[in-house]
Amino acid sequence: MTRLIFLGPPGAGKGTQAKSLAEFLHIPHISTGDILRQAILDQTNLGLKAQSYMDKGDLVPDQLVEDMVKERLNKADTEAGWILDGFPRTVAQAIFLGELLVNISQGQEKVVNLDAPDEVVIARLLDRGRKDDTEAVIRHRLEVYRQDTAPLIKYYGNLHKLLTVNGNQSQEEVTTELKNVIVA
Ligand code: AMP
Repeated sequence: MTRLIFLGPPGAGKGTQAKSLAEFLHIPHISTGDILRQAILDQTNLGLKAQSYMDKGDLVPDQLVEDMVKERLNKADTEAGWILDGFPRTVAQAIFLGELLVNISQGQEKVVNLDAPDEVVIARLLDRGRKDDTEAVIRHRLEVYRQDTAPLIKYYGNLHKLLTVNGNQSQEEVTTELKNVIVA
């Protein structure tokens, strides 16, 4: 049973690694960014509420993403395990998730911290060229990461749930290190 949370700055390779590992393990890859982008495309209520935050590189309010994750983790396919990518991003979300997992009997989650230096992640994000990947927005997302999300490293470290993987190496090397770390 694999339940993994991917943590790390934007551009560290979380999405790519989380997706390929989930395929390899035959478990769902749950990316809150992907769900929100789809909601925007579908122009749902959630999408309309989230769009302005995402365009600026701000976090969408906790309540919106928490409701979304709760709904997603209650689907039947999560019984085999899951990889959460992009959630939690605040300590409040982490506390919410911890309680939710206890309530739905899905504990024993581990957190993978995929780390890479700022210059590396900025270069990668500029290269990716997503709509919210202009340099100003990228820098803002990094600030938000440092302020709101990076404290989760300590939070999960204190709970002895943290595994660290060096994101500043080739995609193949990251994948190898990741697989080693999660079975260790
Ligand atoms: P990502 O694809 O993970 O880089 O997320 C893209 C954007 O979606 C972020 O910059 C946020 O605006 C929003 N977002 C994704 N996940 C969360 C979350 N857990 N909490 C708040 N906002 C989020």
